[in-house]
Amino acid sequence: MQTNLHVVVTMDVEVPTSQSHDSASGPPNAESGGRWSKAFAEVAGSFGLPVTYFVHPEVAVEQGGLYKQLEESGHCLGLHLHAWRFDNRYRCEFGGLNESQARQMLAQASDIWRTVFGVSPLYFRPGTMSANDATFRVLSDLGFRGGSLSLPGRVFPDKHAIWMGAPLDPHRAHPDFRMVDGPLDFANMPVSVDTSALIAKGGRHFHYDLRPDFTDIDHVAMVRRIVGQIVERNPRVPCINLLTHNDHDFSNQASAVTRNLLVTLKAIERAASEYGLSYQGSTLADICDAVLAHPPQENTFDPSGGRVLFNEDDRPRG
Ligand SMILES: [Zn+2]
Repeated sequence: MQTNLHVVVTMDVEVPTSQSHDSASGPPNAESGGRWSKAFAEVAGSFGLPVTYFVHPEVAVEQGGLYKQLEESGHCLGLHLHAWRFDNRYRCEFGGLNESQARQMLAQASDIWRTVFGVSPLYFRPGTMSANDATFRVLSDLGFRGGSLSLPGRVFPDKHAIWMGAPLDPHRAHPDFRMVDGPLDFANMPVSVDTSALIAKGGRHFHYDLRPDFTDIDHVAMVRRIVGQIVERNPRVPCINLLTHNDHDFSNQASAVTRNLLVTLKAIERAASEYGLSYQGSTLADICDAVLAHPPQENTFDPSGGRVLFNEDDRPRG
C-alpha cells in the first residue's frame, strides 16, 4: 500500500502591529491581515491543501466572522497566544509562564474563543513555539486535543523556546516532559525541519524549516532533503508541516515570499511523487485523528543501555 504524506500548511494569525508593537510579527492592520489570510488559503487551495490557522484571541474577536467562514469551507482553526501580547503584565512568551499562569491564560483565552465561535478551541500553537514541561499537561487538562508546539532544533533561550532533540514527527505528548512521546490523548505536530544543518546565530540555534519567509536558501533542495529524511525515519504519521504568518500579501505574485511559497508547494508535490508517496492535504485535526488512532508507544527504557562512550579525541578535557 502506498504511504500517505500528509501536507499541512499553517498560518499564525497575529494581532496587527498597529495594536501591538512595531517590531512584532503581524500585519500592519486588521484589514490587510484578513485579506492576506484569505489569499494564503487561495494559494494553498490551488494545491488541494486546506489551511490550519492559529488565531490570536483579539483577532478572533475583531474578525471572527471571516475565520468562521474559512472554517466552514474546510480550514481548521486553533488558538494562538503570545503571552506578552495577550496580557501585558507578562514580559515573556508562553513558555515563560508558570503552570498556574498558563492555565489561567488558556482558560481566559478559551472563554473569549467560546464567545466568538460558540465552542472551545481544540488546537493550539504558542507564539515563537514557546513552551515548557507543563504546557502539554495543561492543554490536555483543559480539553485541547492537539497542537503544533515544537520546532525541533530551535534553541531560543530568551523566548523560552528550546526544542533541541525533540521528536521530528507527530506524536502523543507527555504530561511531564515536553521532549518525548507520551501517553496523553493530545497530539503534537512538530514543524518540519531540515536536520542536515544546525545554524548558529547570535547565541541561538535552529534548523531551517519550510517557511516561505526565508529568502537566503534553496527551497527546492530543502524540500527534497526534508521529504528524504521523513522517508528514512518512516514514522507512523508521515507529515510535512509548513508554517507562516499573516504578515505577507500572498496575493502579490511578484513578492519573493509568495514565489517561495509556490516553489515550495510545487516541490513538495514533486518530491512526494518521486518517493512514491501519495500526497494528501490535511489539517491539524486530521493529524490528531491519525496520531490518536494509535495507542501510546510502549516504554522502551533500558536502564543498562545508552551509555555514551567517548573516543580518545572526543573525551572532555579540563
Ligand atoms: Zn505568533
